[in-house]
Amino acid sequence: MTIRAELEARELEHLAPYAARSRESKGRLRPETEDPIRPVFQRDRDRVVHCKAFRRLKHKTQVFFAPTGDHYRTRLTHTLEVSQIARTVAKVLRLNEDLTEAIALGHDLGHTPFGHAGEQVLRDLMPGGFNHYEQSLRIVDVLEQERLGLNLTWEVRDGISKHSKGKDGAPVGGEPSKRASTLEGQVARVADMIAYVNHDIDDAVRAGVLAASDLPTAAIDVLGRSSSSRIGVLVSDVVHQTLATAPHVELRMSDEVLAALLGLRTFLFEAVYENHVATAEFRKASGILGGLWERIRQEPATFLDGRTIDEEGIDAAARDFIAGMTDRFAVGLYEQLFIPRPWVSASRRE
Ligand code: MG
Repeated sequence: MTIRAELEARELEHLAPYAARSRESKGRLRPETEDPIRPVFQRDRDRVVHCKAFRRLKHKTQVFFAPTGDHYRTRLTHTLEVSQIARTVAKVLRLNEDLTEAIALGHDLGHTPFGHAGEQVLRDLMPGGFNHYEQSLRIVDVLEQERLGLNLTWEVRDGISKHSKGKDGAPVGGEPSKRASTLEGQVARVADMIAYVNHDIDDAVRAGVLAASDLPTAAIDVLGRSSSSRIGVLVSDVVHQTLATAPHVELRMSDEVLAALLGLRTFLFEAVYENHVATAEFRKASGILGGLWERIRQEPATFLDGRTIDEEGIDAAARDFIAGMTDRFAVGLYEQLFIPRPWVSASRRE
């Protein structure tokens, strides 16, 4: 018996009946030889951590553009916070932690530079629109490994492509066709919202965009004054409400706590994401990405992937290139292409 087979057998013993089991995965797009040590979801988690798009997350904006302050979240630290909240919930519910973690770590791989402003700009530029969760799936299915993709399991791909939330989506419940098929995927989605609502408040206060006293009292009365207390209340509510639905387990939150979470999210949209500071920054993101979009299409052989142009057209190739950029890469390329360099003579340098 291989070590992997032992670990798979351990899952059968310890996981809840409603958990996803590695041995029962619906499999990969291309069949592969199994790893002697790691079950499939653990292997997928490792593939995500080793991919290039994962490393780029460290220089992608969460909310504040190209944040230079050392303590602001980036897309990478956001991803780590989502993963840890998701694993906490998965552990209590006896779900498959490896699957939960693989989905959480991969969920934002397709994010554009400049956060949601960048996503909006690309949505307007790209015929047919743009969504970061579809791009996340494209990265793991196609773009990584020189267009071989990471060849992840069906369950991880399903969770990544259905983690979307947006301004109006609820983190629990909703139509079955719009949520992840596994509870692990649904946990990653609720953990995403718990993470971003709380750390975006923290970063906005740090940036002076809002004061802690501005937060809506109705939500604070339910969830608490500090990030730590709010995450605690939210996680505890999710696990208790979900366990109470046994034996037909469904991911749940109480009406009161869900309303408080959604109240904070609405407040964030108005006070931070769509406020005047963000809007001014949005125009800058729009200028940079719009300028690059036009310019790189004039010189496709220099900037864009030839195979993508042949197979899917120049729009798809431009989208892949721009969506993959970090904030600083986008700014650097814009400077290189649009800002004249001052002439400095050799003698002046001496
Ligand atoms: Mg996210």
